[in-house]
Amino acid sequence: MKKIITLFLISFFCFFTLNIFAEIKVKSSVVKIGILTDVEKLNIASDKQYVIFNNNKKIILSAGNVDIKLVGNKIIVGDKKKELALPAKIKSTNIIAINKTFYRGDIVLILSKKRKITVINEIDIEDYLKGVLPKEASAKWPVEALKTQAVISRSYAIKNLNKHSSQGFNLCPTVHCQVYGGAGCESKQTNIAVAQTKGKVLTYKNEIAQTLFHSSCGGKTEDPKYVWGWKTETPPYLKGIKDIYCKDSPQQNWKCSLDEKAIRTKLTNAGYKTGEITKITYSGTTPGKARKEIIIKHKNGTLKLNSYTFRITVDPWLIKSTMISDIKKQKNKFTFVGNGWGHKVGLCQWGAKSLADKGYTYDKILTFYYPSTKVENIQYGK
Ligand SMILES: [Zn+2]
Ligand SMILES: [Zn+2]
Repeated sequence: MKKIITLFLISFFCFFTLNIFAEIKVKSSVVKIGILTDVEKLNIASDKQYVIFNNNKKIILSAGNVDIKLVGNKIIVGDKKKELALPAKIKSTNIIAINKTFYRGDIVLILSKKRKITVINEIDIEDYLKGVLPKEASAKWPVEALKTQAVISRSYAIKNLNKHSSQGFNLCPTVHCQVYGGAGCESKQTNIAVAQTKGKVLTYKNEIAQTLFHSSCGGKTEDPKYVWGWKTETPPYLKGIKDIYCKDSPQQNWKCSLDEKAIRTKLTNAGYKTGEITKITYSGTTPGKARKEIIIKHKNGTLKLNSYTFRITVDPWLIKSTMISDIKKQKNKFTFVGNGWGHKVGLCQWGAKSLADKGYTYDKILTFYYPSTKVENIQYGK
């Protein structure tokens, strides 16, 4: 009996300590952002002495700016005498400007598949996030809302490190990955949010969570299977929740009008050929209170599209969500009325802002929008 108790205690202890020390590990804290792809020339600058080098050669440049041009497999730095084979690295003790945009970290130039120059910013993830937050959230928002964004953006970056591996870098600086504006867009408030959440990521079952987010959900967040037709089982933290906190979003109620011809042109360009459109209606409602399908009646027949596909194809800036409450036709114009802004999956940014205003801390906001998840520390190294 004693043995059994001892064994039990040992296994309990092991289980407990293993859980305490369960940690999310990634190889390196450096991320590679492809800031320019397939260019033939660029301008580089720094206000301190800086160097550009490869394995065989080093060119020391004094403070100021210089043009780089591609000739064959090599670059010419400034004047014709300074030639360098790619890949090459640019290092400075201070910020480096590429075509007048400022970057922390190092710059690496590689030859792309199209035999042009791809410019990569190699930067510590915490510095990278300082250039993401002002672009993905409003620097005027309360710090706890910005801290939720910092955890989301850090998690997203680490979860998607392979997104551009075929091009030789991790992430691009556009909405395709996360918008990154470099050091020039940083603000005090967003930098504080990054520093106060240093190394924190959102996890589910010891893996980094897929931290999808959008501007405002209009009252309910959505299961991604209704948006992108996900075939795999949706993790519990993305199934959708009721949200009463984003009512103050400027996009809570929206209305837009589009010309029949403009809608038809967009559909045709995307491969959906239609005749003149006579009527647009919707059918089906998702658990997130969005429309499942948009039905386009035209002179040659009827086209049915998933409402998200319709929105993205026609105009995602004007048709702000698929939570459409009315579609009217007047002469040659269709008027759409709806609620919320974005795809409605994951965290609702306006709701997060409102919860931060009410005094919620960032970890509580994150677990409200992504139930069953945890905020954990990331460990870098092998
Ligand atoms: Zn991308
Ligand atoms: Zn919301």
